[in-house]
Amino acid sequence: MEFLSTENTSGRLMELQPWISMCDSRCAFCYFPTTPTVKVPIERYMNMLKRELKMYAKTKYVKTSVFDEIVLGGGTPSVLSAEQMIDLIDFCKERFTTNDEYFIKVTGSSKTLALKKIDKLVEYGVYQMDMGAQTFDDKIRKMLCLPDTADSVEKAIRHAKKLGMCVCVDLMYNLPGQTMESWISTLKKAIELDVEIDAYSLHVDPGVPLEKMIEKGIAPRQGDAEYEKQQYLTAHKILTEAGYKAVGHDRFSRVEWHFRENCLNCWPWGGILTTGAGCFMGYLQKFSYSNLEDINEYIAAVEAGRFPINRLSESTDEDMMRRTMTRLYLRLPVSKKEFMEKFGTTPEKVFPKQLQKLKEKELIEIDDDEIRITKLGEVWKGNIAWEFASNSA
Ligand code: SF4
Repeated sequence: MEFLSTENTSGRLMELQPWISMCDSRCAFCYFPTTPTVKVPIERYMNMLKRELKMYAKTKYVKTSVFDEIVLGGGTPSVLSAEQMIDLIDFCKERFTTNDEYFIKVTGSSKTLALKKIDKLVEYGVYQMDMGAQTFDDKIRKMLCLPDTADSVEKAIRHAKKLGMCVCVDLMYNLPGQTMESWISTLKKAIELDVEIDAYSLHVDPGVPLEKMIEKGIAPRQGDAEYEKQQYLTAHKILTEAGYKAVGHDRFSRVEWHFRENCLNCWPWGGILTTGAGCFMGYLQKFSYSNLEDINEYIAAVEAGRFPINRLSESTDEDMMRRTMTRLYLRLPVSKKEFMEKFGTTPEKVFPKQLQKLKEKELIEIDDDEIRITKLGEVWKGNIAWEFASNSA
């Protein structure tokens, strides 16, 4: 972490991500390291979260960094009161440099987002609400132990939209027992509500409650790879026909300027400064990091004045070159000029076989300036990412 005492010379905008790693229920598929709200000493946690943010804010690296997003993630930040969320955002705004057009996002569930809470957040200037809607099929919602009903999710979204908020929902496909009709009806509801959509397939991680439910026959098994592919292709067709564009990891958006979102576009040279117990998406300069998951260990580490980092890894030049190529997975071009400036070589020299193979399959196109994903590549972007994984060469 010595680089924290050096200047940030990347010239790229960053994301600030304080995590509220608590939830008041447990979704059956969730692998996130969160703690039940009732077990969290909230005031102490919030104080330590601020102390950790302050530790970063004092460093030269962060003092010379500019942020264009403040994202309350987790967990379910909306378990906090509107006042607590606003106080935390104020704290960040006072200590970190933001650009003129920075925006604020808050993650929440309709169970904890009373309409009055939404009113206060909108009034304060929160731009976007992210909701893990997952599906509008109540039968599946119940099986997945989601904390609210499709109706209450819809009500919260309609209210936020009416007040001018941007709403982005996670939707999952290949859920146990999810028919094609159910998936299509969820997509149509999201289109009707005019929300941004992150569509991704369910991966049942080892140890999550859903794994046992499937083993015991309490929940049906997921569809096979072909069924999952058909669900994705169906979503791609329905959403693009409705005017959405596939952008980033799994996003479908109808908001033109979101296509150019900085944090995404700056990959892998921007950065995410993440803080809080269990946060795991941090990357600063060449370092990726995650924090201690246990909330009490986290609090103890910060109280003792230590960065509560649990895992830290430094990327080699080769790692950074591979990361740069994963811009294609994010549906972004790889600039040959920038590659040369950063690494003193070209993508064709470093990854000749991979690029040749992807070109032959018409998943990418290459000209003098850049390498781009094709329309076909958009659908098979996972295959593109695989070509640049360190264990595939
Ligand atoms: S709300 Fe999100 S973080 Fe909390 S249990 Fe559900 S999926 Fe996990």
